[in-house]
Amino acid sequence: MKERRLVSLPNLKEAAKGRGLESSVRYEKVNLKPTSFLASWGQGKTFCIKTYGCQANVRDSEIIRSMLLALGMKEQDDFLGANFILFNTCAVRENAENHLYGELGRAKKQFDKDNETIIAICGCVMQEEFAVKHILKHFPFVSLIFGTNNLVEFYPLLQDCIQNDQFIVDVRSNSDLVPEGLPEDKTGRASSITAFVNIMYGCDKFCTYCIVPYTRGKERSRKMEDIIAEVKCLKEQGYKQVTLLGQNVDAYGKDFGDEYAFATLLEEVAKTGIPRVRFVTPYPSDFRTQVFDVMAKYDNIMPYMHLPVQSGSNSVLKRMNRRYTREQYLEIVHELKKRLPDVFLSTDIIVGFPNETEEEFQDTLSLVKEVGYDSAFTFIFSPRPGTPAARMKDEMSDEIKHKHFDQLKALIDELSTKRAETYPGKVVEVLFEKVSDKDSTRVSGYDRHNKLVHVKGDASLIGQIRKVRITESHTYSLIGELLDE
Ligand code: SF4
Repeated sequence: MKERRLVSLPNLKEAAKGRGLESSVRYEKVNLKPTSFLASWGQGKTFCIKTYGCQANVRDSEIIRSMLLALGMKEQDDFLGANFILFNTCAVRENAENHLYGELGRAKKQFDKDNETIIAICGCVMQEEFAVKHILKHFPFVSLIFGTNNLVEFYPLLQDCIQNDQFIVDVRSNSDLVPEGLPEDKTGRASSITAFVNIMYGCDKFCTYCIVPYTRGKERSRKMEDIIAEVKCLKEQGYKQVTLLGQNVDAYGKDFGDEYAFATLLEEVAKTGIPRVRFVTPYPSDFRTQVFDVMAKYDNIMPYMHLPVQSGSNSVLKRMNRRYTREQYLEIVHELKKRLPDVFLSTDIIVGFPNETEEEFQDTLSLVKEVGYDSAFTFIFSPRPGTPAARMKDEMSDEIKHKHFDQLKALIDELSTKRAETYPGKVVEVLFEKVSDKDSTRVSGYDRHNKLVHVKGDASLIGQIRKVRITESHTYSLIGELLDE
């Protein structure tokens, strides 16, 4: 058995301390050049990355993929035969964590075949001390564990792991760091058409059900000039869409004292002329109406917004520590629709938060009807260890939770279907992204409102923005035909 070196273990309580201090944010130009040792180690080797969870994880995986490709390694989809296997984990829901443990069992088969295989885990689960201890105890073949804020140390950790033949756990907090110089170009990105651009890291909101503020550290914004430079670089490489990324994008700039900075940033990004701009995820009460004015002014900012509400009941919102009321949320939606009447909205809703009453649940249904969402991600509450909500006593039965979930899902489906039924005959603009998974004679993309559209065609359409007449509607997708241009 290899020697195990614990550089640092995560500590959720410590992670919540010392936040919100502007002076403690560290902007650092990182040097990610691989050593000659790693560059020669990587030649001819293969890797496999499995990513769970949100877009922040997708972007983190892209950065690591870039670093592995720079070593001359090749990517493969399956664990079997891979020299390096990475699981980028998500701690937001219990299911994702349990799935990880199942997948680790499969990865062990590869390790049993070749015990030189390096199995690594990163992401939010690895910021939880109990999860790290669980892995150390039950999955001793895992070679390397690192945290969400240790991406910049990936090369030295990997080298240590190989050279010193050690199992390494390094989950330093690093939660004051804003790294620049991470790989930005096409290499490693999941798509050559659409790209995520981090504009800020971390979260200061501490919703009582959520682990993210502990795992990703405090809110800290990148400098505007660095973000704009990245968007310009992507545009030059032919990208058609950027999605500005952060846990609370509209809080961008608050850490450097400018609560209107997101509106300014959005405008500057739109001015680069990149064909499509989206952003995810905003926090309702961080919005300033200036953002909506900018959205209305620039045609390349898409008229779509994912605006998590979580509940339509003020008492539940309070128990969740969401920092707005139902009335304030509706006011934000009203202000947005006033400026962008054709905006489409989607949201996140948690059903079955501890002791949610029938009346509280009905408040959620009525809010959903009032807003008229185009789609929604709905979840049954899943307690995350270490969060305040996990300690709340809950008298609700699973039966009621599932009943409420089904009711909400049926309402959202009904709203989406009604909206989709208005489409046939309309002409929409679609950015084509890929050949359809189900039918290779079809290509798929999204319209300006983020509706999935399929047309007959081939891969030559990928990357093009084309006009499509919709001929058929389904609840969550549309079928259309290309118009000659
Ligand atoms: S805003 Fe709330 S739900 Fe979103 S990441 Fe922060 S704590 Fe989690």
